[in-house]
Amino acid sequence: MKIDVVGGGPAGMYFSMLMKKHDPGHRIRIFEQNPMDATYGWGVVFSDVALSFLEKADPVFYKKFIAGHERCDYMEIVHKGVHVQLKNNHFSRASRINLLKTLREECLAQGVEFEFGTRIDNAGKLDGADVIVAADGGNSAIRTQFAQHFQPTIETRRNKFAWYGTRQLFHPVSLIFRETEHGVFMAHSYQYSKELSTFLVEVDPETWRRAGLDTMTDEESRRYCESVFAPELGSNGLLSNRSIWFNANVVSNAKWSHGNIVLLGDALRSVHFSLGSGTRMAMQDAIALQEAFTRNGSNVQAAFADFEGQRRDSSSNFQEAAAKSLDWYENIGEKMGLDPVSFAYDYMRRTGRVSHDDLRERDPDFVASYEAIAAA
Ligand SMILES: Cc1cc2nc3c(=O)[nH]c(=O)nc-3n(C[C@H](O)[C@H](O)[C@H](O)COP(=O)(O)OP(=O)(O)OC[C@H]3O[C@@H](n4cnc5c(N)ncnc54)[C@H](O)[C@@H]3O)c2cc1C
Repeated sequence: MKIDVVGGGPAGMYFSMLMKKHDPGHRIRIFEQNPMDATYGWGVVFSDVALSFLEKADPVFYKKFIAGHERCDYMEIVHKGVHVQLKNNHFSRASRINLLKTLREECLAQGVEFEFGTRIDNAGKLDGADVIVAADGGNSAIRTQFAQHFQPTIETRRNKFAWYGTRQLFHPVSLIFRETEHGVFMAHSYQYSKELSTFLVEVDPETWRRAGLDTMTDEESRRYCESVFAPELGSNGLLSNRSIWFNANVVSNAKWSHGNIVLLGDALRSVHFSLGSGTRMAMQDAIALQEAFTRNGSNVQAAFADFEGQRRDSSSNFQEAAAKSLDWYENIGEKMGLDPVSFAYDYMRRTGRVSHDDLRERDPDFVASYEAIAAA
């Protein structure tokens, strides 16, 4: 088949690589608006469950992918200056640029063709393709072109984010909550390479305005955030990579395909980064779509229906959990009075997917501390 993929992110490249590996006869072209090696962002986290999908789908890629990962088997919640450790929460951390590089190399090795610096706003430009995969991210132009058909819902959430990096190494995934005179600032931080950590700052819009961040330049904002988290950052500052304030959009679509076009990854559905699972979901989409083609051959409509059947429920479940997680962060003011252990407990239970017993199994000492406080 002739397959054109719009967008060279994790979804588009992983799908292309898997398709070519399963049938080298396909002609696959990826159109990416950015030049090769351009990327935003710092590191991304993968849970052990997420990694297990990748290992099963392609052990060769998996081995290359995890080679440089940072790992830690506990996480930390920092509240009122107290570091509460939560054991048996395994996260593997990777640099986004390395993930994209490994995917690109594997795609090229399989014979996938790339056109970098080529933006596709109109699927009509891809005349002659049997299948068009719209893997062009959260602001998908192809989805917009056929919005009447896909019927996307795009919900803009209230909190503000700025995605920084830092040379301060946060070995465990560390969630830092800091009360200031203007309100609460939060940082999601973790080491993802030998030298660098991700440092994502989150703040509600009222606090953001009271702190004057609405009128500051990007450089002033960066320095302001450095001052808020100075105790944790030590002598290291925050590093910027197009680190501007943004709001999270939650995307979902009533229809997943239209004619020979199918949506994939963030274009199809975004999962808020407080769950650290958007890349994982995008790559799971890629696996499911490739498997659907293996089952249905060149019957494109049957493959699209199969793909949707495999993915719609888990996609919706994840978005439900993400919505609860978002609510938790957006209402953080109500939680700040809790002592550090009860606060960490509340955090772990926020999506409703982790029970008291699950927590006890993971970290009995932590649950014993919580129970002692609750009883008192
Ligand atoms: C702050 C932040 C932190 C995150 N942390 C994590 C995390 O820890 N773990 C995790 O799993 N996920 C995380 N994510 C989510 C993750 O980045 C996305 O879910 C993932 O990148 C989705 O992959 P994708 O391929 O669908 O889209 P993208 O990665 O957005 O890739 C889309 C590609 O398409 C290109 N493109 C767009 N429009 C066009 C066009 N018209 N023509 C040609 N090319 C186009 C873009 O340049 C881009 O390269 C985070 C996201 C953010 C914003």
